[in-house]
Amino acid sequence: MHAFSPAGVSCQERERLVDTLGEAQSRGRNLSRLRLLTASEQAFLDRREQAAEAQLKAHDLQHRCQS
Ligand SMILES: [Zn+2]
Repeated sequence: MHAFSPAGVSCQERERLVDTLGEAQSRGRNLSRLRLLTASEQAFLDRREQAAEAQLKAHDLQHRCQS
C-alpha cells in the first residue's frame, strides 16, 4: 500500500501511464543521441509516444482523477 502520494497524484493507473510516456520519450531521445535513426525507427518511436500520450489524455477525460 502507498502510504502517501504527492499532491495531484492519487491514481496508480495514471502514475503508470505517466511512467510509460516518460519512458517512451526518454528512450527516443537516448536512441537518437546515440545514432541517427532510420525513418521507420523514428516512426515507431513517435507512434509509441503518441499512443502513450493518447492513453494518458483518455484516462484524464474518463477518470478525472487530476481535478
Ligand atoms: Zn485516474
